[in-house]
Amino acid sequence: MADRLFPALAANPAKEALRFGTLSLDYAELASVTGTLARELREAGPARVAVWATPSIHTSVAVIAALLAGVPAVPVNPKIGERELGHIASDSAPSLVLAEPGATLPGELAALARKDVELTGASGELPEEPGPEAPALIVYTSGTTGPPKGVVLSRRAIATTLDALEDAWQWTADDVLVHALPLFHVHGLILGILGPLRRGGSVRHLGRFSVEAVANELAGDATMMFGVPTMYHRIAGEVSENPELAKAFGRARLLVSGSAALPVHDHERITTATGQQVIERYGMSETLMNTSVRADGERKPGTVGVPLRGVEVRLVDESGAVIETSDGETVGEIHVRGPNLFTEYLNRRDATAEVFTSEGVASGRPPGNGGGAAGGGRGWFRTGDMATRDADGYLRIVGRKATDLIKSGGYKIGAGEIENALLDHPGVAEAAVTGEPDADLGERIVAWIVPAGEPPAEQELADHVARLLSPHKRPRVVRFLEALPRNDMGKVMKRALGQ
Ligand code: ATP
Ligand code: MG
Repeated sequence: MADRLFPALAANPAKEALRFGTLSLDYAELASVTGTLARELREAGPARVAVWATPSIHTSVAVIAALLAGVPAVPVNPKIGERELGHIASDSAPSLVLAEPGATLPGELAALARKDVELTGASGELPEEPGPEAPALIVYTSGTTGPPKGVVLSRRAIATTLDALEDAWQWTADDVLVHALPLFHVHGLILGILGPLRRGGSVRHLGRFSVEAVANELAGDATMMFGVPTMYHRIAGEVSENPELAKAFGRARLLVSGSAALPVHDHERITTATGQQVIERYGMSETLMNTSVRADGERKPGTVGVPLRGVEVRLVDESGAVIETSDGETVGEIHVRGPNLFTEYLNRRDATAEVFTSEGVASGRPPGNGGGAAGGGRGWFRTGDMATRDADGYLRIVGRKATDLIKSGGYKIGAGEIENALLDHPGVAEAAVTGEPDADLGERIVAWIVPAGEPPAEQELADHVARLLSPHKRPRVVRFLEALPRNDMGKVMKRALGQ
């Protein structure tokens, strides 16, 4: 029998597995509810199921049942726009949709056969799971830089990433995770739901994020929190004002941030108020997790830590040469290789071929990860993210090659450093930096700022930046706006700025 993704389902039956508001399931209930649905899915035999991924216990049950049944599942953002839904529905072509009872499904999904996810079930044998390379989930990327791509993830990729995180975070069955992330991306679903269940721990999902609700859980028995930088930004603000909240966050075993860079300023405010150092991990839909600051290692705020167990990471310069130095300064594109990688982009052989380097790919075999055990016969995956590496091997992400690397006056400048400098000014609530075509410089640096109250005077801001950044890194243009364009993970969509 293939290894089970959730060995804990059979152990510790009376322990709480999932809690969403007033609804909860212990491990015995979870096993019977998901086992029953899995057996029904096996019988119905859909080639692929869509999951209407509301932030609910039903969504978690649906995904776990599909994994147990070996039916590839496509989690769909319930707030998705019509156009994107059309794209995802036709691209992934599910024949059945799993949804919470009462949920209203739009357009293409409403036309499919539907099965409501009920929280009842009979105990029985769990079906035998398929082998490690079988497609398990198709997760669409966040669409930060373009239309979302369907990423096919194998059971191997999911299991190895979760086990590498066990090692990096000393993640155990005793951990109680609190989170409020959406359930249709890697962060909220794979790390936030499947992670604790693989460990035999517990999940508290808050439905809606609030600093107070997280603090309540941490003041109780929750040990860990997963969040995105927009959440930690709010936490930083509130713990700085409220000692009770700060105390609750101070109790956490681990506060983990990911999906985008956590500004240094927020790191510092949280540490000052709570004594905690948030740890950052770096990953993406295609690779699951690549690096993390370790629970047992030195915490270096502003870095995303070191490669996870089993993951090879290299930095490559523009000419394609591997950067051997670890000086904390030389910027290169991150390439990764390992058992954590995806199989392919759905229906996008061209795009799959493009993101892998050709080295090591046996002729006649598609690039990507199809069928390979760790390491052998595959090229490296080009992440499109740029970073530096220090002498201890910690990576510091500079930004994305496509949107965060500004070429100005002969320099290559990472947007992140400038954003951090701007955020250090008390009058700046949010900041994003982009490059704009410029006849003299090639590109000029533009700062987009959401002010905290009255916008700071431009000269004052310029003086502030001049104290922190060398001249070629200082913004030439400052534009104030009410809010930055962000997607559902709180990531700034830079392509929408300036339009
Ligand atoms: P799309 O690929 O559709 O443009 P996306 O890249 O945002 O969207 P995801 O796969 O969900 O979609 O996100 C992965 C990206 O998020 C990474 O490539 C990286 O740019 C960013 N990221 C993740 N974690 C971190 C982190 N800790 N620090 C900085 N950036 C991060
Ligand atoms: Mg991406």
